[in-house]
Amino acid sequence: RCFCKLRGEVDDCSCKVETLDSLNNNKIYPRLKSLLSRNYFRYFKVNLQKQCPFWSDDSRCALRDCHVNVCQEDEVPIKKKKEREEHEKTKYSEHNNVEGLEKDLSESCAEERELSALDTTISKEKMAEFQTWREHDESLPMFCEIDDEDSNGMEYVDLLLNPERYTGYKGASPHKVWRSIYEENCFKPENNLKYGPELVGDLESTMCLEKRVFYRLISGLHTSINIHLCDQYLFPDKSGFGPGTWGHNLEEFQKRFDPELTKGLGPQRLKNLYFTYLIELRAITKAIPYLERETFYTGDIKEDEEIMEGVSDFLSVAGSFQHHFDESKLFKGNTDEMKQLKAEFVQHFRNISRIMDCVGCDKCKLWGKLQTLGMGTALKILFSGDSMNPGSTINAKSKNFQLTRTEIVALFNAFGRLSSSIHALETFRSLARMDEQKS
Ligand code: FAD
Repeated sequence: RCFCKLRGEVDDCSCKVETLDSLNNNKIYPRLKSLLSRNYFRYFKVNLQKQCPFWSDDSRCALRDCHVNVCQEDEVPIKKKKEREEHEKTKYSEHNNVEGLEKDLSESCAEERELSALDTTISKEKMAEFQTWREHDESLPMFCEIDDEDSNGMEYVDLLLNPERYTGYKGASPHKVWRSIYEENCFKPENNLKYGPELVGDLESTMCLEKRVFYRLISGLHTSINIHLCDQYLFPDKSGFGPGTWGHNLEEFQKRFDPELTKGLGPQRLKNLYFTYLIELRAITKAIPYLERETFYTGDIKEDEEIMEGVSDFLSVAGSFQHHFDESKLFKGNTDEMKQLKAEFVQHFRNISRIMDCVGCDKCKLWGKLQTLGMGTALKILFSGDSMNPGSTINAKSKNFQLTRTEIVALFNAFGRLSSSIHALETFRSLARMDEQKS
């Protein structure tokens, strides 16, 4: 009954599940675990007080485990935004000394020479396509609304003290949120099937690549959230009076993913987790030139140096694995239809990120907001940059492309969640094996 041992290619990618299990569990997961415990990544600034923009928010979760402990600003070992911006400015003015300027100039001349050499070999049609992407780059698609760090209601949360785990949030409220996400914001298959049990199997024949990508991303996120609640589950105290004990709940996991108990849907949903993982991994590798220049400034020199080393080590592993998803296959061509599809893709994703304000459990809302912002940041990276060629990277010096600290923290932590879910599958596999041996 080790159904969670998936095999074969991840749908719409060129990568095997087995390869990812090994890469993640041996290399990515341990590095990320250590990195995400560092100050830069563990404090996330978020507004949990926003009104639900879509329906009247009736469900205030009173469950103890839904509660989020926020930090007082002066407890947080991260310099204030203004001070961080000053630091950035100094860093750039230092960089832009004459020597730096000369280097930049000679690099851009070399780039120009390369481009003019390309001019002769690239068809006019291709150049028109590049031009469209260049124009598109100038207006970066905004997949999420990003709150200013200093705006009202923004508070720091220590993610290590508020882990994503079982909270007891179930029933009508989360169902309304998930239904609104899938039915109103995921694209409908051509034959207008509903989400859930029906939306399965042969997605390829009923949806174009862009729509499938959207659905798989959301489904992969849903899978990850549900794996975490099974992985860190609160078993009630037998006497009914104690606080209960935390542990892995194999039965809950099987209920959600066993093919026999999910009309065959579980394994597909698990595979979507690998898909979402691959997309975010590809985005991180695309942003390597940008992330390598980031200082991850907290104000503590030693801490900052160690984080930069940790990030660099992580990026070198992630960077060796980047040609498994080709975003240039998406939104191909410059037709009105494609432009419309792209606008809808961005709009639907934005809606989903706003729906997170309707989640009726603060802990779930915190992680829901963080993970949609992380995914939105990944999409921003994938559909920005100077080119959409396979394997292309973000130009680190592009003035048009910037990430805020909040986006970087969300991107790394969101990917960390997916990584931890894939790692948890290994635990459920051994629990299932032990269970089988017992019976
Ligand atoms: P649900 O998970 O609510 O699913 C609803 C329906 O969606 C299912 O009946 C099925 O048809 C379909 N479905 C399920 N999984 C998938 C998938 N992977 N892909 C496609 N379709 C699917 N609970 C916690 O304990 N801790 C948390 O941190 C937490 N975070 C949450 C964050 C958000 C944003 C939301 C909306 C909910 C969160 N929850 C959390 C609640 C949790 O996700 C479930 O909703 C809850 O446990 C009830 O589960 P369920 O079995 O009724 O099915």
